[in-house]
Amino acid sequence: MRWTDYPKWGTWAADWAARYHAGLRDKPVRAQVKPGATLAALPMLAPDAPEPMDAILADFEAIIMPGITHWQHPRFFAYFPSNAAPASVLADQLVAAISPQCMLWQTSPSATELETRMMDWLRQGIGLPDVFQGVIQDSASTATLAAVLTMRERALDWAGNRDGLSGQPRLRVYASVEVHSSVDRAIWIAGVGQENLVRIPTHGPLRAMDPAALAAQIAADRAAGFLPAGVIACTGGTGTGACDDIAAVCAVAQAEGLYVHVDAAWAGAAMICPDYRHLWAGVDMADSVVLNPHKWLGTQFDLSAHFIRDPGALTRTLAIQPEYLKTHGADGIINYSEWSVPLGRRFRALKLWFLLRAYGMDGLRGMIRNHVTWAETLAEHIRATPGFRIVTEPVLSLFTFQYAPAGKDADALTLALVQAVNDDGRIYLTQTRVNGVLVIRFQAGQFDATEADVMTVHTVLTELAARLE
Ligand SMILES: *Cc1c(COP(=O)(O)O)cnc(C)c1O
Repeated sequence: MRWTDYPKWGTWAADWAARYHAGLRDKPVRAQVKPGATLAALPMLAPDAPEPMDAILADFEAIIMPGITHWQHPRFFAYFPSNAAPASVLADQLVAAISPQCMLWQTSPSATELETRMMDWLRQGIGLPDVFQGVIQDSASTATLAAVLTMRERALDWAGNRDGLSGQPRLRVYASVEVHSSVDRAIWIAGVGQENLVRIPTHGPLRAMDPAALAAQIAADRAAGFLPAGVIACTGGTGTGACDDIAAVCAVAQAEGLYVHVDAAWAGAAMICPDYRHLWAGVDMADSVVLNPHKWLGTQFDLSAHFIRDPGALTRTLAIQPEYLKTHGADGIINYSEWSVPLGRRFRALKLWFLLRAYGMDGLRGMIRNHVTWAETLAEHIRATPGFRIVTEPVLSLFTFQYAPAGKDADALTLALVQAVNDDGRIYLTQTRVNGVLVIRFQAGQFDATEADVMTVHTVLTELAARLE
């Protein structure tokens, strides 16, 4: 295939995409294939001779599509959303054609400057003060790693990268048990070590880190000769949407000179609505914040927005300038690769630009408010249904529940119900544990979901629960 053939197949792909989305409601949300089925359908070796595109596309439909879980299905209520609004997909199609490497300003000046502007649009959109500057990372995991590396270097007076960690005081980083596993991995990779990620107990309906316990732990660690480096707080934890009291955490951390990173990977998108910002009140005191427009806001994976109060500390941690990366004669420019762990960077800002313009902030706010309202209504229906119990109340559009008819093994029945639901295919839900108890998690966040899609959850649950009895 040559670029001269591209219009033909590109048109095919565009038609296919529109048909795919139009037909999604008729497909089971979760892939229904058995392990190994795709592998068995694939030849053992790559072809020696070129193959025609129509044969490749026929196999794509026959072999690949049955094994796809439809994340863009309007009744996808599992995990968190991973949206792909069509305007942003179109941007990525153009980016794929250009495929620029956006590591330095000069390797595509407009990509760098669009990124600067888009991060500032988003900063204003979520109500962060202008002391923050943004950079686009590939994932929240990478942003959190960059934050942990920065807190490590700051605490070690910038000696870690130079001397290594052996012989240094033992660092401590603090978080509740509600933070995402990407925090643990950042701690491993940064050389801080799992033992030095200290879990602070939580309290209250939002399962927030107890600031008094945080202060006491920091004092005890200092007395024991440890070097406290920072705190990772969450707004919208993955399991149940836990929210730390960011103002209280920052007050403790600032008194101790510690860095605070806020992981709002999922919930951060909702902060485009001022009415939800109470969930992260005090965020303006944090050192960095991450949120994923590739989750709820609508750009397709990957696009993670990382806002930093002092980019100087970040670049002092991550920037490296061998001669081949120097940009002589260009002053006052940003080389975003100095703000992130990977050198190479995709051109991600374009899809955010297309998204924000094609739907507008009001359009996106309306979508998010609808999801929250519908999730609250669904929670009330489930609460009112005999045998069901709400375990954690809605935080934005996320809540958890159990199927626990009196006198039955609630864990076993709840697990059986979620499995029956996902084999049925009309909706997709996943499970988690809350205080040791098995629960089903619900979140609404798909771009095309309607109120009817959300209410289908109640229909499916009651129908399948009755069959379990
Ligand atoms: C999804 C999620 C992450 C991980 O995001 P990636 O972009 O996949 O690395 C981290 N924290 C929270 C709270 C999340 O919801």
